[in-house]
Amino acid sequence: MNFLRRLEEYLSLERQLAWEGTFRDYIAILKERPYVSQLAHARIYSMIKSAGLEEDNGNRKYNFFHTELFGLDKTLEKLVEEYFHPAARRLDVRKRILLLMGPVSGGKSTLVAMLKRGLEKFSRTDAGALYGIKGCPMHEEPLHLIPKELREEFQKEYNVYIEGELCPSCRLMVESEYGGNIEKVRVERIFLSEDNRCGIGTFTPSDPKSQDIADLTGSVDFSTITDYGSESDPRAYRFDGELNIANRGIMEFQEMLKCDEKFLWNLLSLSQEGNFKAGRFALIYADEMIIAHTNENEYKSFISNKKNEALQSRIIVMKIPYNLKVSHEIKIYEKLIKQSDLRNIHMAPHALRIASIFSVLSRLKESKKQGMDLVKKMKLYDGEDVEGFKQKDIKELQAEAVDEGMSGVDPRYVINRLSSALIRTSTKCINPLDVLRGLKEGLDQHPSITKEERDRLLNFISEARKEYDEMAKKEVQKAFVYSYEESAKVLFTNYLDNVEAYCNGIKIKDPITDEELDPDEKLMRSIEEQIGVSENAKKAFREEILIRLSSYARKNRRFEYNSHERLREAIEKKLFADLKDIVKITTSTKTPDAEQLKRINEVSNRLVEDNGYCPVCANELLKYVGSLLNR
Ligand SMILES: [Zn+2]
Ligand SMILES: [Zn+2]
Repeated sequence: MNFLRRLEEYLSLERQLAWEGTFRDYIAILKERPYVSQLAHARIYSMIKSAGLEEDNGNRKYNFFHTELFGLDKTLEKLVEEYFHPAARRLDVRKRILLLMGPVSGGKSTLVAMLKRGLEKFSRTDAGALYGIKGCPMHEEPLHLIPKELREEFQKEYNVYIEGELCPSCRLMVESEYGGNIEKVRVERIFLSEDNRCGIGTFTPSDPKSQDIADLTGSVDFSTITDYGSESDPRAYRFDGELNIANRGIMEFQEMLKCDEKFLWNLLSLSQEGNFKAGRFALIYADEMIIAHTNENEYKSFISNKKNEALQSRIIVMKIPYNLKVSHEIKIYEKLIKQSDLRNIHMAPHALRIASIFSVLSRLKESKKQGMDLVKKMKLYDGEDVEGFKQKDIKELQAEAVDEGMSGVDPRYVINRLSSALIRTSTKCINPLDVLRGLKEGLDQHPSITKEERDRLLNFISEARKEYDEMAKKEVQKAFVYSYEESAKVLFTNYLDNVEAYCNGIKIKDPITDEELDPDEKLMRSIEEQIGVSENAKKAFREEILIRLSSYARKNRRFEYNSHERLREAIEKKLFADLKDIVKITTSTKTPDAEQLKRINEVSNRLVEDNGYCPVCANELLKYVGSLLNR
């Protein structure tokens, strides 16, 4: 029921969006909203702009890219300001092929996909609306109907810019179907869609020997050629190459530099003159952004070839490096995990952070600055101030690290390693140690990797592990102290009772048996030793505590376990030392006693309730910290 109602809504919206009329009606629309005739690059730029931008500290963040691309703010700012914006204003860059250069899985394909999907949506909004000649295989701009002689006048009157000529198919149609009466030509609103092959195309080079230029520029239709008698009759030609269908929008050229030269020459003409050659026709006009991607090696070998010089000058290269911020890298993994078989698995706290530390380290370049190492640089880049360096030093560090982020471990590799860790552990949870193990095994299985590179990466695994050891210890200590506040209070009262008895030279009464006992020297020492109170100094320490206690009592204040800084520290350390024993015992004995179990469960519950652990990884964490403490 619900679905049917949604379907009804959907169809009614489709009907609302649809529009069809004559060229005359179109001109009326144009009068109200001249922007519907903007060219492809301008429409793309308005799409990016319409999502809004945030400025902070002179940095611009374009929200359009924010949902999917992380850690590329600087790159995207440059891309918008040096390409999209000037291209929208019809400056020369518009006539160049945008070539994104960067390492694998660094965000190039995501960026292209976002532009394509974005345009599909944008063309369904008012701000992104556009119209085409009905029946045109290239859904071309209706303004092409206006004869050359009238264009200047028209442009002035309607404040629009006209570029391009009718395609061969429309040229014929206007004569044969409308008898040259352009006013009557049918126009419709068009919606860019890759699936419907409207305004969005993708060209992938296949085998260079068998690939046909028709994939780009369309082909003669041999089934109808006998009807029309000639290859130069547009009705015997299929304008269905990627360059044709991408008119008004974007064409993605995958692995462009692997492509045969003859394909690239077609692009050269399109990028330079805005038109390309197809079949036996005069040049065909097309308005589209061509975006390609490549990696650094491919690009280097391309520019080293003299033959490519002309094409090279028609390309604008933008570097898309890897992200270098640990916190953004985590977001990238979270996104990839949602799309993978890992989505139903529990990721233990810190698991993705540890993986991110490893990959970011692998992408950083050593600095020559005194006192700077890669781990410090990684933390600094992620917004933490480190010893000897502050955020303002980042600019200088970046300046000395040319091409930083253009190589290193790619995010997909990490996700694949997590997947294989999953197969091995057969649990429903992956913890940081599984991550490190998975990454290390990955290196073992990599025969192509040089020994030097392997050692370098192994070193990053051990750096990531050091970071984890610290996090793990802190986390357990925190959970422990928290869940043992009650125990801390009991221990504290116990200690005070004994100190009082000791200082006054009296016996202490067992609360249950009423037995008269000597003060518990062992208990008092076990606490005092935690903060280095020596045997000789114990008396003075205890007396000081007692004086403090009575001064609190005179002021009618309660002397709490955290009223005395050193004593509090001693109590917490004692508790933590007790935990150490508990954890040691639970890891070494198979049968902990009831008390030990109770305590370990309390800490474990705390980790589950407050810190995002599941029982499995909470237990793993306690075991691991136990083994760290045993060293
Ligand atoms: Zn046409
Ligand atoms: Zn877990």
